[in-house]
Amino acid sequence: LKYRDYITVESLQKAYELNQKRGNVLIGGNGWLKMQDRQAAKAMDLSALGLDNIEENDDKFVIGCMTTLRDLETNAALDSCTNGAIKESVRHIVGTQFRNCVTVGGSLFGRFGFSDVLTMFLALDCQVELYHKGIISLAEFAEQPYDRDILVRVFVQKTNRQSIYLSFRNQATDFPVLTCACSILDKNLRVVIGARPAKAKVLEIPSAQVGQFLLNKNQSKAENINRFAYWASEQFSYGSNMRGSADYRQHLAQILIKRACTALMEGTDGD
Ligand SMILES: Cc1cc2nc3c(=O)[nH]c(=O)nc-3n(C[C@H](O)[C@H](O)[C@H](O)COP(=O)(O)OP(=O)(O)OC[C@H]3O[C@@H](n4cnc5c(N)ncnc54)[C@H](O)[C@@H]3O)c2cc1C
Repeated sequence: LKYRDYITVESLQKAYELNQKRGNVLIGGNGWLKMQDRQAAKAMDLSALGLDNIEENDDKFVIGCMTTLRDLETNAALDSCTNGAIKESVRHIVGTQFRNCVTVGGSLFGRFGFSDVLTMFLALDCQVELYHKGIISLAEFAEQPYDRDILVRVFVQKTNRQSIYLSFRNQATDFPVLTCACSILDKNLRVVIGARPAKAKVLEIPSAQVGQFLLNKNQSKAENINRFAYWASEQFSYGSNMRGSADYRQHLAQILIKRACTALMEGTDGD
């Protein structure tokens, strides 16, 4: 990848204007971009805009788009708010040096099928701020077609949500074969499966249905979770690629959902 020109933009407005021109490229950590084999006109670097940090307010975390995955991994407050799930979601990605460079903005804007980061954030109560479109839910953003907007910040609400992140890799540091994040808030359960190998999808299970599945007194807790995990795994579609077949992925989804729900029920005393 070659850039003919490189600038550090002094405002988001300038970055947005320049980004409307095809051939100009917004760069986050340049980790994914550098894998390409092409010439681009201008690289626009957002690193001088103070968007490389995580702020904690009373009700939410505000994560700037230039925050690195390593910053996510090592932020103690985010770690405790997500029961260690955020750290778990990024710690398998390539290596520490790589995670010190690549950004939250590049990871979420890319909406990569294999993305641990997208899977994790979809399981949280989370919104994104786009320069042009304003603030929308990450779930809505994930479904939108690619455009030339700028992802500025991510907001993670501070609630009592319990969350857990699991992934399966054939080999350490490789792309995941399947990713799974589950979270529960007020007995409403959210299951997210990614690397299907398509982009992560969200399944919302309202509290009444959670009760029917998981608190059925006629079966043991393990049987309830097994039945639920099988049902939930069937609600997603899967495909095959060099890392695994569709059937294998569905099998993995069932296992990871089962493990995640078991851990979540333990964390909430099974109530
Ligand atoms: C070899 C390799 C292995 C990887 N393995 C994994 C893995 O196992 N799991 C995983 O989850 N991820 C993995 N990734 C992806 C990685 O974690 C990052 O998500 C990826 O590098 C993008 O982040 P970046 O900061 O490098 O973005 P860049 O490469 O700089 O940009 C990526 C795209 O996003 C655009 N962009 C960047 N910032 C913004 C912004 N703020 N607003 C709008 N558009 C923007 C760019 O124009 C570009 O189109 C891997 C990447 C590589 C190269």
